[in-house]
Amino acid sequence: MKFKSLLHLLEYFKDDQICIEYYEQIRWGGEPACPHCGSLKPYKTNRGYKCSDKECHKKFTVKVGTIFENSKIPFRVWFAAIWLATEHKKGISSVQLAIDLGITQKSAWFVLHRIREMLREKAPQMLGENEATEIDATYVGGKEKNKHFPKRRSRDHNLITNEGKVYTPKKAILGIIERNGKVALKYVDGETTRNMVDFVKTHVPADSTIYSDEAAAYKQLKKTYKHDNVKHSLSIYVEGQVHTNTIENFWSVLKRGLYGVYHQVSDKHISRYLDEYAARFNNRSLTSNERFNQFLEGSESVLPYKILTQ
Ligand SMILES: [Zn+2]
Repeated sequence: MKFKSLLHLLEYFKDDQICIEYYEQIRWGGEPACPHCGSLKPYKTNRGYKCSDKECHKKFTVKVGTIFENSKIPFRVWFAAIWLATEHKKGISSVQLAIDLGITQKSAWFVLHRIREMLREKAPQMLGENEATEIDATYVGGKEKNKHFPKRRSRDHNLITNEGKVYTPKKAILGIIERNGKVALKYVDGETTRNMVDFVKTHVPADSTIYSDEAAAYKQLKKTYKHDNVKHSLSIYVEGQVHTNTIENFWSVLKRGLYGVYHQVSDKHISRYLDEYAARFNNRSLTSNERFNQFLEGSESVLPYKILTQ
């Protein structure tokens, strides 16, 4: 089944039963597994399945153990929400989603956070195995007027004091991006540069080529990587292959989205928004339909409301 639009998707998923069958195929590939004990021998009941394992014997549906667990929102509304949240390049706010789908804003907020959980990379992916990567840190949030230092943003989004020194706030978003491929993002609260070195080591294999700006701590990377940096302090932004334009373009899309669509993103939830942006970017070459299926495969994860709100 190929969906080319939201309308098409809703026409196909006309009732809950069709959604359930579709999702069972994605999740189990025709072989239902008990989410409680893993047994592959459940039998069908009127409302779902019952495990035949003597010690387990629990009832379940395909929603148990997924982002759809314990939700009263119909499956087709969930599917429409996934489509909207992942097809809109900058995302969709809970206010807008509530209007589009006729659900409360509170429900829409929860649905969107669970979708972000679905989009989260469950294992760190390796970047830069076949091409150069660019790394950079950027800063979001906080009111400019509350910052206790003279502020001016350089082209690479660092903050420059009136004395011309680079000021590095503690809370930062770290990014690693392949020039023609994928991105990895991480929100950190602490020493940006040391966090960056650890982050790079998690995602980039040794001996790869990395470009950055001239933050002093990145010098550590030279031990493990082919590292070169641009000299922004000398107003040199591109020297042959040595530039960080790819990650800077990514930051501007991210910030337009975070500020334009979501307005204010709290420290508590920012990592989830980063998961959302990274997932959309990293799957941009797929068709809408392929993306939808690909994302659904990440849905085996429950995110309780309590965790989001405590
Ligand atoms: Zn079981």
